[in-house]
Amino acid sequence: MYSILLKNGILVDPFSGTKQKMDVAIEGNRIAALGNDIDPGSAGITLEMDGSIIAPGIIDPHVHLTRRLGGHEGFYMLAQAGITTAVDFAGPVSEIRNCFQTEACGLNIASLEAIIPGDNLSGSAPSNSELEEVIQKSLHDGGLGIKIMGGHYPLTPEATKRAIEVANKNKAYIAFHAGTTTKGSNLEGALQAVELIGNNSAHLAHINSYCRGAIKIPLEEVLELHEKLKIKKNIVSGSYLAMVNGTSGKCVEGRPESNVTRRCLEMGGYEQTARGLEKAILKGFPGVSIRRGRANILLYGDEARKIWLEDDNVPLSFPVNSPEAILLCAISKKEDGSFIVPSLVSDGGSIARNCIIEKGLMLVKMKYLTLEDFIIKTSVNPARMFGFTSKGSLKEGMDADITVLDLDACKATMSIAGGQLIMMEGRVIGSGGTLLTTTKASDTHRQKRDFRKIDMDQSFLYSKK
Ligand SMILES: [Zn+2]
Repeated sequence: MYSILLKNGILVDPFSGTKQKMDVAIEGNRIAALGNDIDPGSAGITLEMDGSIIAPGIIDPHVHLTRRLGGHEGFYMLAQAGITTAVDFAGPVSEIRNCFQTEACGLNIASLEAIIPGDNLSGSAPSNSELEEVIQKSLHDGGLGIKIMGGHYPLTPEATKRAIEVANKNKAYIAFHAGTTTKGSNLEGALQAVELIGNNSAHLAHINSYCRGAIKIPLEEVLELHEKLKIKKNIVSGSYLAMVNGTSGKCVEGRPESNVTRRCLEMGGYEQTARGLEKAILKGFPGVSIRRGRANILLYGDEARKIWLEDDNVPLSFPVNSPEAILLCAISKKEDGSFIVPSLVSDGGSIARNCIIEKGLMLVKMKYLTLEDFIIKTSVNPARMFGFTSKGSLKEGMDADITVLDLDACKATMSIAGGQLIMMEGRVIGSGGTLLTTTKASDTHRQKRDFRKIDMDQSFLYSKK
């Protein structure tokens, strides 16, 4: 007996090369059978798909789900958008672990621990043993590895290089938001990041965000960075499709704490002070994130200013991205047909910009990407990057993670994660969730049924070594 049967959908699975009308049967948390005429009587729940696109569950490889950037609303917001698996890019991993069962809306979740001078590091040039300790703690807590928040909270170039080396040595996932104490979160920072990664492996976060025109015009910046990425097989990356960024409104001693926030103010012609930020918010330049119902939305103007004055440690979103960088990162391919930037990411979650399905399908509608391209960038490649070997395809035996897509409306209409219906027509109905951890997660964590061990040897960062 199958638990769920999807009848008469069009199965699009670029990994196995399938694109045809097919019934999909689920048993427990696995794809149990694919066929042309599976008996509706053989399943507890049978759903008529009527020619809808059945895609392997959409994976968002870069989101924020903790109080460090946005709060816990992102679980609901991701589920509502049709995502089935997401990787939190800041942690704390312990916060994810503690809240995910009650908040996860049925999603599969992995997390990286941000390493931050003055928080979990002594300063911008931590010793190797300090780095080792924070990596081991992330893995022990159930994380996949660490993230260097260079753009926001930089390390010295030398310490950045060592952090990448130590993560590689420990086979911990390492993501890097470019920027150090000597270079910003811009083209120079991104080129420096490529140098600092060297022959190690790393995930260079949101490529488009380094091409906002700080050094040259955005088009030249994105082309220059693409040339570097084309030849760097050891670097994986993503780019996002939203025009707005995500940063923090927190001010210390009269000025924004984050380098990114200060740079955004500069771009908008505002003073890089708390006063300048207040003016910018009042003028409607950045949106201030605030909870409405179960989701966060962006508010602008006077209302936003009041919220920021009450507590400045709120997420802000500035409209600072370059459309040409967004588009080129989304669609550009290498000579061999693979994407220069292998994944689409929202960098959303709790930040209100969970638009990879909506805007990604718009690119499909405009024929800038094929539907297969879209699924490669939002499911096949993200699964490979992180070593989620049972995801990214709907072959028999794979995880029952499915996103049903409406190409005309550019949205997901239904999603299933771990064999559980989690969203139908925008209504979130999933509960519980699965934390994706490594074999190094502490026993108490990994022995529970709702934890799944990922073998980092299978992640793209380390599978070739
Ligand atoms: Zn981020």
